[in-house]
Amino acid sequence: MERVQAVRGMNDILPDAVHWWQKVETTAREVLELYGYREIRTPLVEKLELFARSIGESTDIVEKEMYAFPDRKGQWLALRPEATASVVRAFIEHNLHADPLARKFYTIGPMFRHERPQKGRYRQFHQIDAEVFGIDDPLMDAEVMIMLCDFLQRLGLKDIGLHVNSLGCPECRPRFREKLKAFLQNRSPQLCPDCDRRRHVNPLRVFDCKVDRCREALTDAPELAQYLCEACRRHFDKVLEYLSDLHVAYAVDSRMVRGLDYYMRTTFEVITDRLGAQNAVGGGGRYDGLMRDLGGPDLPGIGFAIGMERLILLLQQKEAWVSKKPQVFIAVLGDEAVRQAFRLAQDLRAHGVAAELAHGGGSLKSQMRRADKLGVAHVVIVGEEELARGVVVVRHMVSKEQDQVPLENTVQFLMTVSTVESL
Ligand code: ATP
Ligand code: MG
Repeated sequence: MERVQAVRGMNDILPDAVHWWQKVETTAREVLELYGYREIRTPLVEKLELFARSIGESTDIVEKEMYAFPDRKGQWLALRPEATASVVRAFIEHNLHADPLARKFYTIGPMFRHERPQKGRYRQFHQIDAEVFGIDDPLMDAEVMIMLCDFLQRLGLKDIGLHVNSLGCPECRPRFREKLKAFLQNRSPQLCPDCDRRRHVNPLRVFDCKVDRCREALTDAPELAQYLCEACRRHFDKVLEYLSDLHVAYAVDSRMVRGLDYYMRTTFEVITDRLGAQNAVGGGGRYDGLMRDLGGPDLPGIGFAIGMERLILLLQQKEAWVSKKPQVFIAVLGDEAVRQAFRLAQDLRAHGVAAELAHGGGSLKSQMRRADKLGVAHVVIVGEEELARGVVVVRHMVSKEQDQVPLENTVQFLMTVSTVESL
């Protein structure tokens, strides 16, 4: 029979790997809550229009990567490719600006982009996403980046670089756009077909292209930094000052525009050189006009997203995970013994001892083999003969010694030996 397999680029997370996910999520929640973020969960499916209007029609995400489809009534929907648009939509829809506690949000979950699957790039991937609304103080830009670095540090990831840039605002960006457009016109023959088309509608997108010849064409492109207006310049200087105050190392990268149109002023990425081409672990920026453009109050916003798969690849390079084992295996001999053994297993679990019960009978020898494979410290052998005398046998797997223990003392006995041995 032919097997049904998972969709290409969409991965199962198996029990042997799930510890990493739990560690990353637990650490993320701890750090985010320390900085005052509250969790929000939004649907995985939204109206297509939400992403087209926020991320931008001429971005890679909207043009090529989105899973978009009409539902049975012909309404166009999309699997979310990122979380910011959804969080902003929810904020507007539920009038959360009226709630003084509703400033900082986070959400953790899967995102979907139809990209070419490779190491660190998948079609279903997961992000930790943080958003702050209503605060345009440059101090918040710095705090958001500092929290991101704090989180990576707590995971033990040290050699990750923070890159920062300013994209200007609707005041100063148009001047830069014109300069860049003129520059790109001369480079037109060198650009990939996408960029050659986009240089008219959205020239900044060319900076985000991953094609080598486009990158080369940009080596002496004009730099945004030189076109920032007075207010944007002041904002950016402040951000960098706050970062320096707290001794956070950063590099200004004037080419970094990020793949979403809604960004303005501060943008940033955390970069590693340990993942080959997929070098961005996370990124974000300020998006002050987005909430208004989506029909909400005119509140500024800033946020970031971290790719969990890339994070976990980095963690796995650093350390091996020792998976948890059951502490006790219960071997059973005879039908009557099964009922006692079942009760004993429950009793052990109730006292916090991880117990694994033999199923389906089999010889003592085969049950002991399974216990060996599981790597337990003790096996309790529940046999009918011993039960008739009110005892069970406890075998210490390392010393191979055996004790006869009264059934009613078994839990106490195992709790004591496992504590003594773990000292
Ligand atoms: P890239 O430049 O690698 O395509 P991006 O700029 O498209 O990344 P963002 O939209 O900023 O990525 O998303 C934030 C983070 O989410 C990225 O830094 C990355 O870690 C992760 N990410 C993005 N796309 C994928 C993907 N297809 N598979 C796995 N992780 C991804
Ligand atoms: Mg991308």
